[in-house]
Amino acid sequence: MEQFDIIIIGGGVSGCCAALAAARQGASVLVAERDGYLGGTLTGCGVGPMMTFHAGDKQVIRGIMEELVAELVRRGQSPGHVPDTKQYCSTVTPFDAEGLKLLLDEKLRQAGCKVLFHTFLGAVETAGNEITAVTICNKDGLTKLSSKVYVDATGDGDLAMWAGAPMTKGRPEDGAAQPMTMKMKYCNVDTVQLKQYVLGHPELFPALAPHLDIFKQDIPFDLEGFDQEFKAEKAAGRLSIRRENVLMFGTGRPGEYIINTTRIIGHDATDAWSLSNAEYEGRRQCAELDSFLRTYVPGFEKALLEFTGPTVGVRGSRQLVGQYTLTAQDILERTVFPDTIVHSAYPIDIHNPSGEGTASTFMSKRGTYYSIPYGVLYCPEIRNLLVTGRCVSASFEAQAAIRTTPTVGGLGQAAGIAAALAAQTGMSAADVDISQLRQRLKEQNVYLDEV
Ligand SMILES: Cc1cc2nc3c(=O)[nH]c(=O)nc-3n(C[C@H](O)[C@H](O)[C@H](O)COP(=O)(O)OP(=O)(O)OC[C@H]3O[C@@H](n4cnc5c(N)ncnc54)[C@H](O)[C@@H]3O)c2cc1C
Repeated sequence: MEQFDIIIIGGGVSGCCAALAAARQGASVLVAERDGYLGGTLTGCGVGPMMTFHAGDKQVIRGIMEELVAELVRRGQSPGHVPDTKQYCSTVTPFDAEGLKLLLDEKLRQAGCKVLFHTFLGAVETAGNEITAVTICNKDGLTKLSSKVYVDATGDGDLAMWAGAPMTKGRPEDGAAQPMTMKMKYCNVDTVQLKQYVLGHPELFPALAPHLDIFKQDIPFDLEGFDQEFKAEKAAGRLSIRRENVLMFGTGRPGEYIINTTRIIGHDATDAWSLSNAEYEGRRQCAELDSFLRTYVPGFEKALLEFTGPTVGVRGSRQLVGQYTLTAQDILERTVFPDTIVHSAYPIDIHNPSGEGTASTFMSKRGTYYSIPYGVLYCPEIRNLLVTGRCVSASFEAQAAIRTTPTVGGLGQAAGIAAALAAQTGMSAADVDISQLRQRLKEQNVYLDEV
């Protein structure tokens, strides 16, 4: 049986940051990834821009995520951190998803990580309080692998769940998750026409109106609107999407926009049939939306639909019940933790699991940031398991804040260093020396407050 120091299941942005951080500590790392590319939801589902690296003027997320952005900027594949035209966040970071896929390939290979694509976790073996092996499934059939430490970066907590770690799913009252969204990406959008329309009708775009000076800059913009047209089409039975308007983001590539508007309600990403049906429903809604955009949104008349999906985007499913569970109160009241591993400034952003509406809760003082402790990455029940990404230990509300990509990248970097420390010392995840972990994070250019 092939042996590694660390096996990471899932090569999304969090898994990739974990792999890089661990390999740079000298650990042998295998990443097993279901798809044929790295970056997960960020590169595969049309997500963008990355939100957010900043709290006001202060850049609170740095480390590997910043290293990736800096290289994309150097290659002309990102404008870097630009002001958010709606000022929902301090900055947003548009990027070229194809560029990021390639960059992640290069970075992981340079760091010596082994990556198995088209490889699904199939089974987990445990003995006592530790994982002893995993079985992966790919073109070779079933293969058993083992490592000293395992990192669950699947987003859905598949590895943790099958290892017997305590998990929750969805909101406490009914287990419902935030809706999934099938993204759409368009090219050949007439940006000049779209921008002129907005500037001519600022009253129709209330989120932008107070910040038109930013909107006028030559930067990729995000836009939310066309509420009246959306409402009328819903009333006429031609649109069945449980949202109130169109939400779109510029990618930074000329004429390219991401549409984040479909809303797939009542589906469960951890149920194979439900997930399959969500794909049907997502594409059905995309077809409705395509017709709407061409009819009502200036600049979309000759736009080309580049892709839908390719897979439906999942905002939330299972969460680990870890040594510590982050809460909304921790975020809003800015709890200080002695074991902080990442800071973040993204607000609590809950797309209604039951229908229309998105609830955002910002910290009372804009431009501030909160802390996430190491305790969200492990549980006392399984000694050689770390969990990272959107499925870490957080309440339903807190997860809605920490799920975005700079933050899950930061969590991944911490999980990778902690996994390497555990593998090198033979210690459990719970016994990793926090001061050493924080010191190594700082050496890898992570910003951490002194506590
Ligand atoms: C519709 C939508 C819009 C969003 N918009 C934004 C935005 O504008 N800005 C922003 O910053 N964030 C946004 N987010 C949030 C963000 O994209 C995700 O939360 C983040 O990318 C999650 O990263 P991750 O690495 O934790 O998980 P994922 O990206 O889900 O990565 C998990 C990886 O594990 C693999 N995997 C899963 N199960 C297995 C298995 N059993 N075996 C092997 N491999 C497996 C998957 O293929 C995937 O590559 C959005 C999310 C959604 C769904």
